[in-house]
Amino acid sequence: MPAPLRAGVHTSIAKSLEEAALHAHRLGCDTFQIFSASPRMWRASMPSLPAIARLRHAREKHNLHPLVIHDNYLINLASADTSIRKQSIAAFRGELERAILIGAEYLVAHPGSYKNQSLEQALLTLSDSLAEASRGIRSTHLTLLLENTAGQGSAIGSRIEELAAIRHLAINRIEYEIGFCLDTAHLLAAGYNIATAAGLKDTLAQAEAVLPLDRIHVIHANDSKAPLGSRIDRHQHIGKGHIGEDAFRRIVRHPKLRHKAFILETPIDDDGDDERNLSTLRRLAVAHPHGVPRRDSSPRKPAS
Ligand SMILES: [Zn+2]
Ligand SMILES: [Zn+2]
Repeated sequence: MPAPLRAGVHTSIAKSLEEAALHAHRLGCDTFQIFSASPRMWRASMPSLPAIARLRHAREKHNLHPLVIHDNYLINLASADTSIRKQSIAAFRGELERAILIGAEYLVAHPGSYKNQSLEQALLTLSDSLAEASRGIRSTHLTLLLENTAGQGSAIGSRIEELAAIRHLAINRIEYEIGFCLDTAHLLAAGYNIATAAGLKDTLAQAEAVLPLDRIHVIHANDSKAPLGSRIDRHQHIGKGHIGEDAFRRIVRHPKLRHKAFILETPIDDDGDDERNLSTLRRLAVAHPHGVPRRDSSPRKPAS
């Protein structure tokens, strides 16, 4: 029997870091994701040491591993605008410092946007900004994870090659590891047809051509309200979108993916949605006791 799926959701730190962990545990998570400060404000303060100790205790007690931090939405390290870039560098430095202090294993970052410049120039700017934000910061525990995007507007990172290029440009200029986070909804919206068996195989082959798959540590498991190639970032409940249940079954059972940390960023439309999406994902990961896959043979039309 392969190891059970490691899965979790994004929880709120509004009450405390500890409460974010306890809430994740109550929902049935064994890994979870948080923001380390308000994701839509530039100002952020460091959590207190006692608050961090209580978080560590809750994580150990309930075996919540890994802890993933998602970075602030305002940060754009690739910005051509010097004042936005400066503010982004300072904010990203804060993200790194808080992630290390909190003891997170992963910091997930969106690569930013290349408005008013070429993609090539933006990737160089981004690598300079990463180096500048990371000056003097060293960690053997934290890994920065570059997340793929849906490619909305001028978002960088809708191609896996772009993520690989960012790591390549930055890795020798910083003193911590860089890996990757793949978001399933973003993959589909960016044109990677992971909804079919052949499409998943092709997507993983494309990924493997530019980065070792074992550098992908976290999968953001989201179904997509937006169709293949739409470049629109809209998350949907697992099995209710254009990716569909059969595709998620293939993803969570894939020998090269199933040991990764799966984090849901699915909508909360009704009470219990997080629990429902988690249990759907876990159910899909477990083979039928008689070895007969459920409904795998019937083609499934995506909802809406
Ligand atoms: Zn995501
Ligand atoms: Zn998204």
